[in-house]
Amino acid sequence: MFRCSEVAERASLLIDGELGPWQRFNMKLHLAMCRGCRAFIEQMRITRDLTRAAVASEDQHIGPEIEAALALRRARSIGKT
Ligand SMILES: [Zn+2]
Repeated sequence: MFRCSEVAERASLLIDGELGPWQRFNMKLHLAMCRGCRAFIEQMRITRDLTRAAVASEDQHIGPEIEAALALRRARSIGKT
């Protein structure tokens, strides 16, 4: 199983879906048991979503749809654990 530092190293790959099945499995296993890494990944995901949304909307403000989608995704991933 991965250590916390290994999870942190691969966090962006996990979010991008670029990990192989075995690494993915090990990440999930670690995340199932490690609250700290769960919080870390979640935080990274949110930051990423916000960055993407900001890029997508260019100069515009983030719309209510995007905010709602982010809130929903966040609630879902919390419920999953
Ligand atoms: Zn950990």
